[in-house]
Amino acid sequence: MQKGHLMAKLGRTLQLLQASWNWKQHGTSIVGKQADWWFVIGQSGALQPIVVGAALANLDPVSLEQLKAAFLAKKKLYKLGRFDNKNHVLSISLNADLFTDKNADRVRLLLEDLTASFRQLGLVSGCLLCAGEQALHAVRIGENPAAVCDACHARLQEQFNGIIEKNEQQGNYLTGLIGALLGALTGSVLWLLVSYLGFYASIVGFVIAFLAQYGYRLFKGRVSRAMPLIVAASVVLGVLAANVAEVAISLVQDP
Ligand SMILES: [Zn+2]
Repeated sequence: MQKGHLMAKLGRTLQLLQASWNWKQHGTSIVGKQADWWFVIGQSGALQPIVVGAALANLDPVSLEQLKAAFLAKKKLYKLGRFDNKNHVLSISLNADLFTDKNADRVRLLLEDLTASFRQLGLVSGCLLCAGEQALHAVRIGENPAAVCDACHARLQEQFNGIIEKNEQQGNYLTGLIGALLGALTGSVLWLLVSYLGFYASIVGFVIAFLAQYGYRLFKGRVSRAMPLIVAASVVLGVLAANVAEVAISLVQDP
């Protein structure tokens, strides 16, 4: 697999739009304001549909039906795929082709058309999460950008901090120590093998350290300031064990 496939990269059509609008980008999406309305536009890969999202504070069923009818009537013009909504969030997908300039033009035209319709229907932008009309800001939720209000942003931040704290408190020093020791011992055995093959490999020291911290995490060691100390102690013990074993083996081989 190519590297480009593993990393979420902004498609060329969205690159064009981002360059002309100066919107924010996260992963394969961009977020920004057109006239008075916030939009998130994403495309998961070349030739994948371009999805335009807009959260509205006061989307009522009548306005939704009017919008739907108006835009489905222009299906051909926009190469419209779907016109859906999840509660207050509209999601409109355009089929993309290889002509990035034309794709970008269709997105621009759609946004102009949408903002004109929103204005006409008296629809205003709302927070993606709570649909509130307060001032919105572009933020990142996981891999996706979104426009949310300050209160929702603060709540997200709190939840995020809560998750980090949970990991810090839930980890266990003892299982971590066992994991680190096992990792260091595995590294030491590797060291013995390598030295018996006749290589001088200083990099093995790093391998031992890596395996020790890997073991610590694998065995759910508590992530805290004590972690490097425990890992370092395990590495020292692992290296000592390897040396003792080396001496013992040489004594057995050559008494
Ligand atoms: Zn909100």
